[in-house]
Amino acid sequence: MKFNTKTIHGNQEHDPSTGAVMPPIYQTSTYAQSSPGVHKGYEYSRTANPTRTAVENAFASIENGKFGLAFGSGLAAIDCVMKLLSPGDEVISTNDLYGGSYRIFTKIFENYGIKFHFIGMENADKIEDFVSEKTKLIWVETPTNPMMNIIDIDAVSAVAKKHQILLAVDNTFATPYLQNPLNLGADIVMHSATKYLGGHSDVVMGALVVNDAVLADKLYFIQNACGAVCGPMDSFLVLRGIKTLHVRMQRHCENGKAVAEYLANHPKIEKVYWPGFKSHPNHEIAKKQMKDFGGMVSFVTKGNSIKDAFKILENLKLFTLAESLGGVESLSGHPASMTHASIPKAEREKTGVVDSLIRLSVGIEDIEDLLADLDQALSLV
Ligand SMILES: *Cc1c(COP(=O)(O)O)cnc(C)c1O
Repeated sequence: MKFNTKTIHGNQEHDPSTGAVMPPIYQTSTYAQSSPGVHKGYEYSRTANPTRTAVENAFASIENGKFGLAFGSGLAAIDCVMKLLSPGDEVISTNDLYGGSYRIFTKIFENYGIKFHFIGMENADKIEDFVSEKTKLIWVETPTNPMMNIIDIDAVSAVAKKHQILLAVDNTFATPYLQNPLNLGADIVMHSATKYLGGHSDVVMGALVVNDAVLADKLYFIQNACGAVCGPMDSFLVLRGIKTLHVRMQRHCENGKAVAEYLANHPKIEKVYWPGFKSHPNHEIAKKQMKDFGGMVSFVTKGNSIKDAFKILENLKLFTLAESLGGVESLSGHPASMTHASIPKAEREKTGVVDSLIRLSVGIEDIEDLLADLDQALSLV
């Protein structure tokens, strides 16, 4: 089955009890047993719920994995992966990382005795300098948020395999429409399904997909033991979102390209970060591992002024100034004070997240309207 068919039919079946084409929202915490321990596969909804099972199966299908797990948020999914580790273990992670991931790593898991190395991974050979026998996990985000750096998953996977380290990839930005990390050698794919998979800015959810049965069992155990699961209504919404992922992503990519090119040619713009440009330092890797370049674009205006950045953000009308990304509607954001506020300024600026940086999540509206909106806001600075 090919990708566009998988988003709609992958691992899905009609409801066995009624034939309902869409899975019902099984709003129940518990399930009748005919005799102690004799049941139809469901006992208690923290452990499993049929609507959640449907979305977990969809996650597995679209990421070309065998096992999918759904959580109450992307961070709950990350939390589950980190609980595979023990005190003394070390993690090597991308330095240009989603702020919430950085926060849970440094503010929560460092307290439990896990050590993190945040490094630039554009050159995979550099990773080896940080590998020791304590290294248990490599955590990659690509494209990175918000600088749109591209990391060669295949190359990082070679290092991980050589040293028998687990490789996890946060695939939130790219989505499985653009890249499938499991096919590139990753062991775990993680998503904030809140973003493109849900796609309509109406639900918070996280996902993990793996191929290895032993690893899946460990993750299922943590999911059930720690309990950060999502409810059936949210499962239904994300399942519905996934059914249009491919058509939405196609338009996100088209509009993203048009916005990036418009900004690159604008006299008031200093720099645009988008992996589709030939001049992007990792463009060739992006071309190799991604089907297209996505709908996320970051930029700084000439003069690098925070006042100008704020003026643009306050005056954009269709690009709503808001946290998050990946919905059908265009959003704008100021990483330094919003998504990346939890990263210290000095750390942030090392990776390019300066105070004047603006990040756009380009939606699927008519491109003429989006460009006109950018035009009017830029005319004010
Ligand atoms: C939003 C996001 C997360 C966190 O997911 P939540 O659903 O907000 O908990 C993790 N990684 C990336 C890249 C994100 O954009």
